[in-house]
Amino acid sequence: MRYIEPHAHMVSRTTDDYERMALAGCEAVCEPAFWAGFDRSSAAGFHDYFCQLTEHEPKRAAKFGLKHFCWLCINSKEAEDVKLAAEVIAMIPQFIGRENVLGIGEIGLNKNSRNELRVLEMQVELAAKYDQLILVHTPHLEDKLKGTKLILDVLKNDRRIRPEHVIIDHVEEHTVEMVLDCGMWAGMTLYPETKCTPARAIDILETYGSENIWMNSACDWGVSDPLAVPKTALEMKKRGHRTHAIEKVIFANPRQFLSQSTHFKLGK
Ligand SMILES: [Zn+2]
Repeated sequence: MRYIEPHAHMVSRTTDDYERMALAGCEAVCEPAFWAGFDRSSAAGFHDYFCQLTEHEPKRAAKFGLKHFCWLCINSKEAEDVKLAAEVIAMIPQFIGRENVLGIGEIGLNKNSRNELRVLEMQVELAAKYDQLILVHTPHLEDKLKGTKLILDVLKNDRRIRPEHVIIDHVEEHTVEMVLDCGMWAGMTLYPETKCTPARAIDILETYGSENIWMNSACDWGVSDPLAVPKTALEMKKRGHRTHAIEKVIFANPRQFLSQSTHFKLGK
C-alpha cells in the first residue's frame, strides 16, 4: 500500500511517528500551518514557525525517506487580532517561493467571528494575487454548517479563485455535498473521537463517491492518530472495496489535487 498524508501537523509529532508512517507506505506528508497548541505573541513567532515548516521539518522527514510539503497562513484560532494577522500575512510572500510550499492554508473560520472572516478575506486575496492553491479549515460541531457556508460564499464571490484549486477540509455528512457541488475538493479528517471516524468516512465515500475527495489524519498535538489513513484503507478493504478504489482515495486523488502546484513532486 502507498499513500499520501495530505494534512498532518508533524511539528507536534515524534520521529517514531515518521518511521511508522514510512513503514505503512506513506510517500509524502503535507503540513498546513495551524495553531501550535498555544497563541503566539508576535509576528516573529510566525516567522520562526514558517522557517520550521520550510527548512527544518523537511530535513527531519527526509531522514525517514519521506517528502515533506507545507502550506502557509495565519490560522483562524489566532486571527482575532487583525493587526497581528496583517503583519503575518505581509510576511508570507517571502516564503511562497520555497520549494516545499504548496499554497495558502489552512485558512478558514473557527468561531465564525467578524474578525476571523476579515482575516479569511485577506488571505483569499493573498492566494488570488499569487495564484496559490487554498486549503480550508472548517469549524467544529455546531459552528461547522454556518462556517462552511460563510467560507464558500467568500470563495465563490471572488471570480479569480478557481474552485478546483480549493480543498475544504474537515467535511462531514452535512457539509460534503455543498462543497463538491461548488466544484471544490473535500477533505475528511479521521479522528479517533471527533470529526470523522473511519467508519463514517467510508459511509460518506459509499454515499457520495470518491471523486475529488481525500482523507487525512490531521495528526497534531491533541488526541489523534498519524496512521489513521492506512488504518481506514484497511477498513475499506475489509468492507470489500477494491484495491484500485482504495488507492484512488489515499494516493491518486491527493496526488491529482496537489500536482496543481508545481512544487509538488514525489520521489522517483
Ligand atoms: Zn490541521
